[in-house]
Amino acid sequence: MKRRDLIKGAGAGMLAGLTASARASDSPSIRWRLASSFPKSLDTIYGAAERLAERVSRITEGKFQIRVFAGGELVPGLQVLDAVEQSTVECGHTASYYYVGKNMAFAFDTALPFGFNAREQNAWMYYGGGLALMREFFKSYNIISFPGGNTGAQMGGWFRNEIKSRADLKGLKMRIPGIGGQILARLGVVPQTLAGGDIYPALERGAIDATEWVGPYDDEKLGFHKVAKNYYYPGWWEGGPQLTFYVNLKKWQELPAAYQAAFEVAAAEANVTMLAEYDAKNPPALMRLVRQGVKLRPFPQDVMTAAHAEAFKMYDEEAAKNPAFKHIYGEWKKFRDTSIQWFKVAEAAYANFVNISK
Ligand code: CA
Repeated sequence: MKRRDLIKGAGAGMLAGLTASARASDSPSIRWRLASSFPKSLDTIYGAAERLAERVSRITEGKFQIRVFAGGELVPGLQVLDAVEQSTVECGHTASYYYVGKNMAFAFDTALPFGFNAREQNAWMYYGGGLALMREFFKSYNIISFPGGNTGAQMGGWFRNEIKSRADLKGLKMRIPGIGGQILARLGVVPQTLAGGDIYPALERGAIDATEWVGPYDDEKLGFHKVAKNYYYPGWWEGGPQLTFYVNLKKWQELPAAYQAAFEVAAAEANVTMLAEYDAKNPPALMRLVRQGVKLRPFPQDVMTAAHAEAFKMYDEEAAKNPAFKHIYGEWKKFRDTSIQWFKVAEAAYANFVNISK
């Protein structure tokens, strides 16, 4: 490079620097409120929103502040969608499948039984067209969505008695919300919806026979192992459930571009670090539970096979009557069918070998 070009280059750099600092001092102070669906006791999930807020603040040098409220503090945990849609709060952190009562298509944003694992969910969202499809869907709710964490595959939950075959599901009262509950109902289970704090007493006094929650790290804190010793796996209704940040579309459009970028980066970070946190915290929690006499049991094959068949029958029935579901399901299914072909090769072979070796 010639000397003249160097000087010109330096000058241009200095100018750009000046412009940037002028912009920084001009940048407005913005304060948002985030309604979380979750209690602080679910520190891994709730913590993702706090991490997002902290990062956004640091990136914008404190100009863009987001205050996080736990479920119930501003709005009930299951009304985060409505609160963001109506601009009661600017943003929220929730699990979209809480809203399948409004439209079953919300489930694609979290998990469908026998759907994606956490890696596939991320792949579909970021590179498989999933995020664009979901944002198109969320537009009619005045919302723009951002993947906001993943628990990884969940456990099937705590059962007072052993489940030896499909026949043992008949009349079984289990706390399991959402689509997983609907599928189990087709197999004879009587699904119950109970909030986190109500599950333990119901299980203890025998009002319910079983409950699912999340995985070892979260389940241990609620103490289910003290009253139900059989811990079943896998939680086939949640193979890689995603949490989501919602932002009111109008509020989003009013944000300076640099703040939008800060939010986007912080959300992506919260998305991947939640999974890492679970993957670090679940293994020691599982070991602690096993040391306390918990019996790890796989669901019987006939339960898995019947649930799988009912799940896809249900998706076809839903697609026949719900255009939004049908539209996303077609794309989701195509991605899933291809992804399985890949994951069952190197990933599955590697995991199967490593997991049985020392
Ligand atoms: Ca669960």
